[in-house]
Amino acid sequence: MSRQNRDQKSNPTAHESEAVVLKPGREKPVRQGHPWIFSGAIAQLPHDAPNGAFVDVTDSDGRWLARGMLNRRSQIQVRLVSWVQDEAIDDDFWRGRLLRAINGRRALEAESNALRLVFAESDGMPGLTVDRYADWLVLQVGTLAMDNRKHDLAAMLMALTGARGVIERSDLALRRQEGLSEAQGLLAGIAPAGPIEIHEGGQRFWVDIVGGQKTGFYMDQRANRRRTAAYCTGKRVLNAFSYTGAFAVYALEAGAEFVTNLDSSYEALEMAETNLRLNDMDVEGQSEQIAGDVFEILRDWREPGAPRFDVIILDPPKFAHNQAQMEKALRGYKDINMQALHLLPPGGTLVTFSCSGLVSADLFQKVVFGAAVDAGRDVQILEWLRQDRDHPVAITFPEGEYLKGLICRVL
Ligand code: SAH
Repeated sequence: MSRQNRDQKSNPTAHESEAVVLKPGREKPVRQGHPWIFSGAIAQLPHDAPNGAFVDVTDSDGRWLARGMLNRRSQIQVRLVSWVQDEAIDDDFWRGRLLRAINGRRALEAESNALRLVFAESDGMPGLTVDRYADWLVLQVGTLAMDNRKHDLAAMLMALTGARGVIERSDLALRRQEGLSEAQGLLAGIAPAGPIEIHEGGQRFWVDIVGGQKTGFYMDQRANRRRTAAYCTGKRVLNAFSYTGAFAVYALEAGAEFVTNLDSSYEALEMAETNLRLNDMDVEGQSEQIAGDVFEILRDWREPGAPRFDVIILDPPKFAHNQAQMEKALRGYKDINMQALHLLPPGGTLVTFSCSGLVSADLFQKVVFGAAVDAGRDVQILEWLRQDRDHPVAITFPEGEYLKGLICRVL
């Protein structure tokens, strides 16, 4: 890319007009490796490059900074992938990125065959996540440029991992921001005949990657399930927002006396029961599955005669998808934590999570503090939890951190 003149805006050459030019003083985060460029930082967009193309980014003086994927329809108009000027963004480039991500997870393979192999921006592949479930891969594509080459990426992934098939289950909310519609289906190889059995930390689980409404498995909680289980021996455990009961299986394995799975989804609870059986657990004697709304049920259980718990796990879905939802989300987090603290006896354990990326760990701790104040309970934090190692956070991209949790003791 040739050096651009200050007056190139009024008289751009064809070549120069293909670069994204930043406003003066907006180059620092790009230089430091942050992968996102918002419209507000851009002085000039390329004239001809189509959305989804790879474009060069220069500072306001025309100095080359980085290269990334363009999408004028997105608030994030460029997502950067390379800071090396002579690096071509071709098949070898993507193969290299995939291999680096896959190799980075090798150490986890002994623990589980359900792993996130690619975690988007954190692995230098904006908008692409790849999850491995035993012999199958589930791919999610949230950017136009990745969508354009998803079949190639699927074929590369098959070759690199030996997987039997690659299924697409792209998250709709993410795609809408890029002007993409819903996409699901087989991208390469063959689809599994039904749910897939995976193992994690000595336990086994069924995962329905094709059929289920809600699909997949929350592998970001792998290490946290183990840590939580350590507090469950001999205890009565409430697994609120249980989904398919993964925390419950770990708790019973660690010798919990009784586990209650609570979730609004019947299908998830059915799968939870199946997972308990799969692990030879005493479903009738040591567990119950309750379908209902956590907000309502925790409140109801403050009445006399309600069940008692020594450990309460709160792992709700993402409450804050954008800034506009923040206030309501924080109220939601505070409410369930306050209700849970009301229910716990002295010496009880609260394990509480938020997977909203917009809610920082500090803010989440403040919310739990507010809940403790309102519940009138004395609380100590014993452990700070995060997403597991297959969801790394690039140091240039703190936005990659989304899951945070606290293990608390009620005094
Ligand atoms: N802890 C789980 C993951 C939880 S995902 C695991 O380790 O696998 C969040 C779950 O919350 C989903 O299963 C969803 O069905 C459930 N859910 C969402 N809103 C709910 C509500 N208000 N009450 C009960 N369950 C809810």
